[in-house]
This record gives sequence, structure tokens and C-alpha cells, in this order.
Amino acid sequence: MSALNELYQEMIIDHGRRPRNFYISEQANAIQEGFNPLCGDKLTIYLTEKNGVVENVSFQGSGCAISMASASLMTEAMKGKSVEEVKKLFDIFHKIMMGEKNPDALEALGKLSVLTGVAEFPSRVKCATLAWHTLMGALKHQTKIISTEDEK
Ligand code: ZN
Repeated sequence: MSALNELYQEMIIDHGRRPRNFYISEQANAIQEGFNPLCGDKLTIYLTEKNGVVENVSFQGSGCAISMASASLMTEAMKGKSVEEVKKLFDIFHKIMMGEKNPDALEALGKLSVLTGVAEFPSRVKCATLAWHTLMGALKHQTKIISTEDEK
């Protein structure tokens, strides 16, 4: 295994064990539940969105290390970004997770690119994308539970 891959794995394990932004936010103006039935990952995203900016995003839930690490890294990265930027990052991330190979896109993701190694394990892709789909649901102020099985 390359040193880079090892670093990526360590980061995922670290965030999986000690997720950042893992709390219920009382200030949230959008709360969205997400569920990945394939693995049993469940999480709730607490989003505070003001004037087109993600002021705060936190989460709670339980699931495998990949789902928790993805939510942890994502919430860290999205705080302070505009809704437009968040949507753009989601599109880039989603395409890579669906198998697109694009070095420029990887660079755009910055630290989040550690998650894209999961794309090589199709059975775990939905663990990594769950938090992201759930955040998108929160931005749309959807009320139904986001399920990774509803993806088209
Ligand atoms: Zn999982």
C-alpha cells in the first residue's frame, strides 16, 4: 500500500472513531434524516443556512466507520461555504464516487478526496455518499427521509 493510501486510511479511521461536529444543533433551520439500508447507516444532519451560506452543519447518527468519517469530513469542509459551492462539491464528489476519473475534480475536493478511495469498493459507496445526499435534502428542505436506495 502506498504512503498516500495509508494516510487516507488513517484519516478515515480517525474521523470514523472520533467524528467532528457530532452533536444536535439547536440553531439548525433544516434537519434531515438519512438512511442507507444496505449497511444500516443512519444519520441526521443539522443545517444552519443563512443568506445562501452554510453557517453551521453538524450531525448525529450511527453506522460504519466510512459513513461516520464521510459525515465528519463533509461537515468540516462545508462550514462557511456558499450553498452554490456546496452543490458544486456534491456534484464533483458524486461523479467520482460513481466511477468518473478526473484528476482536476480530485483537486477541487481538497481534503475530501480521501473519501474517494471508497469508489473502488462499490458495496461501500453508499456509506460514503449518505451524508452528502442527506445534506442535499436538508438544503432542499425536504421532509421525507433520504434513502440511498432512492438514488437514480
Ligand atoms: Zn456503511
